[in-house]
Amino acid sequence: MELNITCIPGDGIGPEIVAEAKKVLDAVAVKYGHTMNFTDVLMGGASIDAYGKPLTDETIETAKGADAVLMGSIGGDTTTSPWYKLPPNLRPEAGLLGIRKALNLFANLRPAVLYEELAEACPLKKEISAAGFDMLIMRELTGGLYFGERKTVEENGIRKAIDTLTYDENEIRRIAIKGFDIAMKRKKKVTSVDKANVLDSSRLWRSVVEEVAKDYPEVTLEHMLVDNCAMQLVKDPAQFDVILTENMFGDILSDEASMVTGSIGMLASASLNDSKFGLYEPSHGSAPDIAGKDIANPIATILSASMMLRYSFDLDKEADAIDNAVKQVLKEGYRTIDIMSEGCKQVGCKQMGDLLAQKIV
Ligand code: NAD
Repeated sequence: MELNITCIPGDGIGPEIVAEAKKVLDAVAVKYGHTMNFTDVLMGGASIDAYGKPLTDETIETAKGADAVLMGSIGGDTTTSPWYKLPPNLRPEAGLLGIRKALNLFANLRPAVLYEELAEACPLKKEISAAGFDMLIMRELTGGLYFGERKTVEENGIRKAIDTLTYDENEIRRIAIKGFDIAMKRKKKVTSVDKANVLDSSRLWRSVVEEVAKDYPEVTLEHMLVDNCAMQLVKDPAQFDVILTENMFGDILSDEASMVTGSIGMLASASLNDSKFGLYEPSHGSAPDIAGKDIANPIATILSASMMLRYSFDLDKEADAIDNAVKQVLKEGYRTIDIMSEGCKQVGCKQMGDLLAQKIV
């Protein structure tokens, strides 16, 4: 298969971690007989330095012409970098918002996996973390409270702020279909999270999700109220497979789920549109404090590349090979500095990439 991938190395540690992800993808290409064509483009601070703006039309067009986009991270030190003296629409993050919009990415996926070998980093009690967990939060990204009409008015001398939460059934249906499709590739369970005891938008959400579920008889669907879900994530995270939820609930719950893994350098993510196209990137930022030192953990980006193979190309075997390589390297005791613990062998970013590429056999 020929895979055309646009790469956005970005800023800070971005170029280092994307280089290691390419190394692992090249190993997958050799092993499984694929051709991977990588085209690098600039975005964020690197684009500001070269072109005076964080996102160019050329970057958008190159990304649109590809089968998928693999990104490192963008942005610099927000207190010292000259990029943050620019107006907000010219700062690095504006590039990220711009490309998400241009590519119509409405579904955000964030896996939260607790690896046995990293269980010590998990802030939960041992009896809970011992069960491990492997969940994926599917968050609607372009609707709901963050995109509804808002205003601040003054009535009788009292200031009043109004935000509106709107979803139509088509917006709910398309994210629900994504959630069920992805559950079919996993443990076939969807927990749809809402606040249907209070909100009309949640009652519509629940009823559309139930309609979509009829097309997926193999998938078990359960509904959970968002306040209960927030508790269950710390009480019994092993119960979850795919958590399907709207924008604001997903924003909060995905950060909570990330924190219970305890390892920022291990967290992958993806944003998808309604075709197979997606933008894949680690959940962490550009870590300017450690850039250029060859100590960044490339695993979150490499796991994002694995998600790209699974969700944009349906190359499940190849994605499994990467996921298993990560487990194997952790089992053998290799760690980058951020996940280092006593008795393990500390390696740099490049060496971690080499080790993972070697395990693709
Ligand atoms: P950060 O995630 O970059 O860093 C937080 C801490 O985690 C730092 O100590 C960093 O060294 C460490 N860290 C992060 N990733 C790591 C890795 N792979 N290996 C080892 N250690 C790692 O968050 P921040 O410092 O708040 O933000 C830095 C810049 O990144 C800012 O400009 C911010 O706007 C940007 N950012 C970009 C994205 C994105 O591109 N999607 C996301 C978040 C933050």
